[in-house]
Amino acid sequence: MNKENNWCHYSGMPSPTAYQTDTLVVNDMIHIWMNALGLSEWIIATEAIDEKAVVYEEGVPESDQYFVGIQIDRVKKKACIYHDRLLNEEDILHELLHVKNPDWSEDQVNAETERLLKPKQR
Ligand SMILES: [Zn+2]
Repeated sequence: MNKENNWCHYSGMPSPTAYQTDTLVVNDMIHIWMNALGLSEWIIATEAIDEKAVVYEEGVPESDQYFVGIQIDRVKKKACIYHDRLLNEEDILHELLHVKNPDWSEDQVNAETERLLKPKQR
């Protein structure tokens, strides 16, 4: 898979507190965060991809070798989250923040994701 400019690729450590979830729960979490972020008119889909389809640079530790990215069509207000491992709430919120804030840097998105998830982890 090519990494195009409209792709967000991040490879942070999988959070040990983030739970792995099934599709139904993922869809619920997407809707909850879409509403919370004011993105309810968007269509957000998810698609699992073959992990072998993603090529990692040399030296990337195995624990970081997973892909979660989003492709965004701002005209049609559609986006698709591609993933080669199960999605957790952190992934979903992170990608939705990219939809909501197109000009934010990766650091800004990460900081806001952490801030929004924090109260729930107490
Ligand atoms: Zn990102």
